[in-house]
Amino acid sequence: MSVPLSLPPARRTLRTAADLAAAGLLPEAEREAAERVGARYSIAVTPAVAGLIDPADPADPIARQYIPDAAELLTAPHEVADPTADAPFTPVKGVVHRYPDRALLKPLLACPVYCRFCFRREAVGADGGVLTEAELEAAFAWFAATPAVREVILTGGDPLMLSPRRLEAILARLAALPQIELLRIHSRVPVAAPDLVTLGLAAALGRIEAPLYLCVHANHAREFSPAALEALGRLHRAGVVLLGQSVLLRGINDSAEALEGLFRTMLRARVKPYYLHQLDPAPGTARFAVPVDEGRALLRALRGRVSGLAWPTYVQERPGGAGKVPLGPAFEPV
Ligand SMILES: *Cc1c(COP(=O)(O)O)cnc(C)c1O
Ligand code: SF4
Repeated sequence: MSVPLSLPPARRTLRTAADLAAAGLLPEAEREAAERVGARYSIAVTPAVAGLIDPADPADPIARQYIPDAAELLTAPHEVADPTADAPFTPVKGVVHRYPDRALLKPLLACPVYCRFCFRREAVGADGGVLTEAELEAAFAWFAATPAVREVILTGGDPLMLSPRRLEAILARLAALPQIELLRIHSRVPVAAPDLVTLGLAAALGRIEAPLYLCVHANHAREFSPAALEALGRLHRAGVVLLGQSVLLRGINDSAEALEGLFRTMLRARVKPYYLHQLDPAPGTARFAVPVDEGRALLRALRGRVSGLAWPTYVQERPGGAGKVPLGPAFEPV
């Protein structure tokens, strides 16, 4: 279905440079470069996210996460297509097994929005990457045959883009395996497309027998709109444990004030800050990089100033699939 550009921007997800320009979110002078970026990496800005952007602010921390930039066409020497090395740790399609007791399941590769700094930007996209029934069955068979794996982490893509019925069916199949103790979902939907968190979805998640953790990806306090808070409330009331994960990003949350605001806002939304990620070196993302020493200094500045509950673990993905490690900061014992 083609939608006329004269529709108010708040009605549908913006998916092209032309959409963004028509909505006033991209200067006309940057449109051609953004089109070239869009030919390589998917673009999506939901109505909820578009509504958070201040088009008059050229440094808007929401816009910077989602509006394409010509800099994405340049790959820095240290950048790689698969920075977390998912591919070599994939025993069957859609599964990534790097740690002994837990593994990822990626049922689809579509997201509600496309983050310009995404570490899986070469894999995710609007064409969906949905596992077929046969591929899903092969993934379930792998989990059934791998009893050391006690936790399944649904990621992608964004698992909350699936219909509630389909998501419930996947979670129920996994929860039925005797060795599975924990289920986890990583998602940007509660902040980026809160209308997808319907009462039906919350009820479906509430029916899952295994403990279910949902790790919400958000990088700025302003992402927690009233609609996002309601969505998170529905998940919380359904018995889902809420965690937060963020990426340390230049121009978005690279100050003690911005991080304090983000983590305090998460806690008010019943979301426990879990990880603050060092940026993974995906192609064309160098403009977001914050050096590790600066990240440590920011966390050091927050220590004592905010509740211990607000303190995430600052982590970095080691190259070649060596896994995540905490980066500190370390404090000297007395
Ligand atoms: C990040 C990640 C996990 C989860 O790690 P936690 O430290 O438990 O959050 C699991 N598997 C893979 C492949 C990962 O990249
Ligand atoms: S939601 Fe996650 S997987 Fe999707 S584009 Fe953003 S960072 Fe990448």
